[in-house]
Amino acid sequence: MLNKLFNFKGGVHVPQHKDISTTLAVEAAAIPKRLILPLSQHIGSAAETLVEIGQHVLKGEKIARADGYVSAPIHAPTSGTIEDIGDYPIPHPSGILAECIVIKPDGKDEWAALTSHSADYKQLDPSELRNIIRSSGIVGLGGAGFPTAIKHNPGPERIIDTLILNGAECEPYITCDDMLMREKSREIICGLLITKHALQAKQCVIAIEDNKPQAIQNMQQAVAEFGNNKITVSVIPTIYPAGSEKQLIFSITGKEVPENGLPLHIGVVCQNVGTTAAVYQAIHHGEPLISRYVTISGDVKQPRNLDVLFGTSVNDLIEQCGGSTGDIRRLIIGGPMMGFAMQQITIPVIKTTNCVLVDAGKTKDLQKEKYTMPCIRCGSCADVCPVNLLPQQLYWFSKAQELDRIQEYNIFDCIECGCCDYVCPSQIPLVQYYRFAKSEIWKRERDHQKSDKARERHEFHQYRIEREKEEKAEKLRQKKEALKLKERSDTDSDSKEQENGKNLKKEIEPKNAAILAAMARVKAKKEQLKIEPKNTDDLTDAQKKMVQEIDERRARERDATSVHSDNDSTQDKKDILDKKE
Ligand code: SF4
Ligand code: SF4
Repeated sequence: MLNKLFNFKGGVHVPQHKDISTTLAVEAAAIPKRLILPLSQHIGSAAETLVEIGQHVLKGEKIARADGYVSAPIHAPTSGTIEDIGDYPIPHPSGILAECIVIKPDGKDEWAALTSHSADYKQLDPSELRNIIRSSGIVGLGGAGFPTAIKHNPGPERIIDTLILNGAECEPYITCDDMLMREKSREIICGLLITKHALQAKQCVIAIEDNKPQAIQNMQQAVAEFGNNKITVSVIPTIYPAGSEKQLIFSITGKEVPENGLPLHIGVVCQNVGTTAAVYQAIHHGEPLISRYVTISGDVKQPRNLDVLFGTSVNDLIEQCGGSTGDIRRLIIGGPMMGFAMQQITIPVIKTTNCVLVDAGKTKDLQKEKYTMPCIRCGSCADVCPVNLLPQQLYWFSKAQELDRIQEYNIFDCIECGCCDYVCPSQIPLVQYYRFAKSEIWKRERDHQKSDKARERHEFHQYRIEREKEEKAEKLRQKKEALKLKERSDTDSDSKEQENGKNLKKEIEPKNAAILAAMARVKAKKEQLKIEPKNTDDLTDAQKKMVQEIDERRARERDATSVHSDNDSTQDKKDILDKKE
């Protein structure tokens, strides 16, 4: 088991302001008149709506499905009617609108049928557990919103040595994880065991900052209750940003997550305590993720934590905490170090909302009345940077919009923790410069991608035109070729016929000649065989006359007659001779 702790570089000690919101037990926030649920409450593709306006839905019913692998479904936080599907302000620093499903609660808070897997989660295959977690819409509740089922799928070759449960909650003012660990420690341990089984992790470490004694005690008790499950509670020093994933992993294991790598590449998975409690709810009770603990703090009359249905307006929460203590100057979603100032007070709570911080000018540490002065190159910013960057250089390059140079200085390794900003004596809003530079780089990338796509489209269009031209030309060529071949074959057949004729003639001519020669030979033989009658001396006159007539007739017929006729004549003569005898 891991007992030794490691100190990461940099970090700052900041006033905590945590006690003000931990005096009251967590209560469920009231169901509002209207719930506005953005389709994008997580990292990845926005969910795809499954409902229509006017449709009645039950609590826990899936109203939008995950659209792709990196996405998460959304479930109705209470029963009611779908009032609208359209664009509404979402919790984003730009104040943009995005597609939301609006539910008008019916007040019954009636659950849909749920399926529990409590008795047999150990019998379930890790992939089946992931499917339940995925269909329950669970995403990282620490602020990132990464779909948990993906995190639970390290791949067949990777062995997860250590599962770290992140209960550090290092940012000032925020106490929702602290309260969760105090109040739901058993559920968290159950969720941890399920996650351990899903990941087949060898050991678990629950990391909690030493400024949360009550949470530490409760978690230790819960761990002891569940027996030896290779789970330890690790109390880490309070220093910001100890709860940042890479810094926490280093503190616990002494291992550094490789550049452009993930924790699972070093056999570690880090999960927020809220996410783990949601895993428990999904597996043991079949309940999808529809609410979370949210800290409402700063300049409000009663800072506290509430269990809030997603889609509830931030304004409603402030009202439930007695309202603000003055005119609201800034509304921050998240903590004072890494949170974003919002432009509207009506934005809804979503899965990643951990804190609503109200700045009405009453709390000194929240006041933003800074007077920026020139950089004095003191180097304090570099001293506190937990990821070994050179914040001063990043600032200069951001200011000069030298986007290539700023990338060479690894701007994307910046976790926007705000430590540099916090210590800068010139009060330069360094993180704002970095965020601006990052957004410009993304914009440039998007423009490049767009122009690349446009160029690809254009090139493909040109290619298609060329290809069609070539195909046409080829068809024409083939047609011409076919015509030529036909003509040639016609000519060939003519000449063949002629040739055949000639050959026939050649064949026939010798035959004719042979026939004629044979006929000539027969004639000549006949001439040779011509017999002069020797028995005509004693003929009577009548007989002589008859013979003369026959000779004359024969003479007449000789040239035109055949052998047959000659035979006939011979026969005639024979007849006469026969008569004479
Ligand atoms: S801390 Fe501020 S003044 Fe000092 S080097 Fe960094 S940016 Fe400049
Ligand atoms: S905001 Fe970025 S540059 Fe500044 S200290 Fe944090 S990680 Fe370093």
